[in-house]
Amino acid sequence: MTATIIDGRAVAARLRAEVAVRVDALKAQGLTPGLTVVLAGDDPASATYVRQKEKMAAEVGMNGRTLRLSADVSVTALERVVDELNADPSVHGLLLQLPLPGGIGGDAVRALQERIRPEKDVDGLHPINVGRLLSGAPTLPSCTPAGIMRLIADAGVDPQGRRAVVIGRSAIVGKPMALLLLEANATVTICHSRTPDLPAVCREADILVAAVGRPGLVRRDWVKPGACVIDVGTTRDPATGKLAGDVAFDEVVEVAGAITPVPGGVGPMTVASLLANTCTAAERAFAAARR
Ligand code: NAD
Repeated sequence: MTATIIDGRAVAARLRAEVAVRVDALKAQGLTPGLTVVLAGDDPASATYVRQKEKMAAEVGMNGRTLRLSADVSVTALERVVDELNADPSVHGLLLQLPLPGGIGGDAVRALQERIRPEKDVDGLHPINVGRLLSGAPTLPSCTPAGIMRLIADAGVDPQGRRAVVIGRSAIVGKPMALLLLEANATVTICHSRTPDLPAVCREADILVAAVGRPGLVRRDWVKPGACVIDVGTTRDPATGKLAGDVAFDEVVEVAGAITPVPGGVGPMTVASLLANTCTAAERAFAAARR
């Protein structure tokens, strides 16, 4: 038996088509959703990601805009930019493309992200949105985990009553992933670099999400037959330039029930989820203006 290979490109295209319908409905009422990405400096990978976001936003009918700032931009100038975009009613989704240049990192990045109004935080990283996710309130969820929930649903897997194991506890993937699975009534275990006997824990999983960044970490004998295996890992091989996932795909495909490939699995869902969040933010702004 070999697993069903989950086609993330196709699911992402379906999600974008649904967003396009919602965008049309908003436009018919006079509101065009706007997504602004702040890009500082000239990191080539960031430039590629941002172009993709701009292109996809345009494809679903949104106003996708990139605000390009020089590499020597100061924290004060970035704060001013965030404040202006926070106050701009045509901007429904706002994000800072990371990394920021000139050694702006750590606490400064955190403070800038927290300066973004939570209702415009379409990356889902603001503590208010994370807290809302934790308390089960309406939120803007972190994009990659939200996209994964859609992949799992489209694979015909209902997390309710299932055992889910998430490897990785980052704020951007692992933790929000676990919370979304919990919200969907799975019994969730979070594993990390200090988890003893990781293979044994993984073998309990009906849904296994690997978000580590270690190519081929998850082997065939870590996987319960028939499990849904989601590979978030994207490690670029410096020699070949190819992306590698956290799952030893060729082995695991023989035991899993469903599996995401790398590339073409989780990756395409992230930007599609970002657009979905922007649309949600615009719908909420529209509803709030009517009240
Ligand atoms: P991170 O480095 O912040 O976190 C990695 C996590 O893995 C940590 O919690 C750590 O405890 C855990 N870990 C490390 N070594 C381990 C081991 N040997 N066993 C068990 N756990 C271990 O990374 P991140 O930002 O969460 O990203 C994880 C991976 O997902 C990376 O490859 C990243 O490129 C990829 N990613 C992909 C997308 C996408 O859209 N496809 C989005 C975000 C991240």
